[in-house]
Amino acid sequence: MKKCIGLISICLIILCTFSYNYAVNTEMVTLYNELKQPNIDTTKIADVENITFQRDVATFHLEKGTIYFFKPVSFSENNYVTGALFIGDGTFSFTPPTKIEKEQLARFHAAEEQTFETGFDVLLMRFSDTTFSELSSNISFKEMEISSDAAKKVNQCEKYMFEERNNDIIWRILLSMLKNPETGYFHTHVGIPGHDPVFFTYDPLKDEEITLKKRHSRLTYEKELVNSFHQKGENQRVSHIEKSSDFFALAKHYKSNTTIESSGDFSSTCDVTIAVNTDSIIMLHFWLASKLKVDSVVNSNGMHLSFHKGENVHELLVFLDSPLTMQQEETIRITYHGDILDKFLGNFYINSSVFWYPRISRTRATYDLTFKTPKQYEFVTIGKKLKESEDENYKISHWKQATPVVSASFNLGPFKTHKIDIEGTPPITVCMSDAARHEIAQLLIKEGIPIGKNMEKQVGADVANSIQLFRSLFGPYPYDELYVTEIPYAHGEAFPGLLHLSRVTFQVKDDWGYEEIFRAHEVAHQWWGTTVGYKTYHDQWLSEGFAQYAGLWYMQWIRKDNKRFFQILDEWKDEIFSNRKYILGGGAEAGPIWLGYRTSSSETEGDY
Ligand SMILES: [Zn+2]
Repeated sequence: MKKCIGLISICLIILCTFSYNYAVNTEMVTLYNELKQPNIDTTKIADVENITFQRDVATFHLEKGTIYFFKPVSFSENNYVTGALFIGDGTFSFTPPTKIEKEQLARFHAAEEQTFETGFDVLLMRFSDTTFSELSSNISFKEMEISSDAAKKVNQCEKYMFEERNNDIIWRILLSMLKNPETGYFHTHVGIPGHDPVFFTYDPLKDEEITLKKRHSRLTYEKELVNSFHQKGENQRVSHIEKSSDFFALAKHYKSNTTIESSGDFSSTCDVTIAVNTDSIIMLHFWLASKLKVDSVVNSNGMHLSFHKGENVHELLVFLDSPLTMQQEETIRITYHGDILDKFLGNFYINSSVFWYPRISRTRATYDLTFKTPKQYEFVTIGKKLKESEDENYKISHWKQATPVVSASFNLGPFKTHKIDIEGTPPITVCMSDAARHEIAQLLIKEGIPIGKNMEKQVGADVANSIQLFRSLFGPYPYDELYVTEIPYAHGEAFPGLLHLSRVTFQVKDDWGYEEIFRAHEVAHQWWGTTVGYKTYHDQWLSEGFAQYAGLWYMQWIRKDNKRFFQILDEWKDEIFSNRKYILGGGAEAGPIWLGYRTSSSETEGDY
């Protein structure tokens, strides 16, 4: 079974309220940098003993050691202490509230215990809550030099904090400073002697306020979620995602003008129209691929705005010149460029299929997209192609997606196209790469994999036939056209009216029906995933499950082969049950499907 990304579930979004006098927004950039590179305050160092504090279900006990608070940062006539380092002996214990989360914890730690308890020798805390007043009330500070050990430890821990691509720690601290202290945030790096660190976060502006992460076993500073759940006093079964910071500003419309050179150089100007969904907001939080660099950000009055885009992270913060209020709409123009496309053996590798434009929410938006692309390549994106013209070197195409959709992508390459226009299906265009076909075929033959002929026609036939079947089962095809394009990767991904299909499905002769299932699975996402979405990651399995079953249903229908249908169903059942029984060297079961992508981990990749 090939891996299907379906619709990426990374949570996107935004921003913030402001109840102080408004500061000139370059101050915000300075403030951001101060928060990101804190110094230890030589007057706020103390030896501590026997201090215990609690954050929801987590208990921290500082047995004996030294605590170093960070120098305060000032903003709007207030001082904020936003971090501290503890070096010494301590213990951390964490007990999830539900059976599912307890089992998830046991699974990651291959242990029977449903409480995580560990000693630590380092605790780095970043916060915008009451931690400073709470911890400093009963201790006496001394003034002293900072040991080189302490400085080194801060440095090490910060690598974990800030070199993770999706980190938003500083933004979150800023958000409480700008909004109000009740939105206090608390994040810790728990350094365990002889083991990888773990990371606990309490964020009252998230749908699931409590998270515990561990270091990803293969990626140095990336982390993976162990636990994620609601804070005490909330119904663990109910999402309140609409009240989270993810919904403070919602994207309504994206209008972009993008140029791609034949070398793969990429540059774009994107006008993002947002609607504000909170009382007021002075800072916008976008996600944009880590390798893209922002040149400028301008508001609808043509005024340049300050912004911060970190190195190698997806986060882009935009500081507004004046607060936006509830219900207000504003259009922000972001100009950016960078390394989103790699070219190898004549094919383009798109590094980020959904963060090539600045995303501010996972909610649905309309799109107006203009692309200037090298004339020698075919180019496609989502929506209806309204116009295409050519000059000496480029093709200029204009596309419009009039009904709101969750995300947009594109594809380009030395494609051979095959058009299918038959009664009962939308116009279908299959784009198969002409580059390196022979070389890849030779590699597959060496592996004993049989190569098929006229693959654009075989792929096109499965796409057209599966649309016919799904129309009768699920209702009308939801978009105007369908572009089916080859990508030089091994997975598939579906966007409204656009498919990215693995190069493998454009090469291999498949007697077993797996390619039919794969192609039809991605087609089925036009109904399940792009049209019928999901509220949170807990429900994403519905669109994956429906698409996968629809793929199998198509295989049965087109081959008229019930035997094969039940064989594959049995294979899948065995696969699911064997994962449930034998992962982590026996004993631990894979998690329930409701955990979605969290059932899979760097150690149990096949579980979702
Ligand atoms: Zn899928």
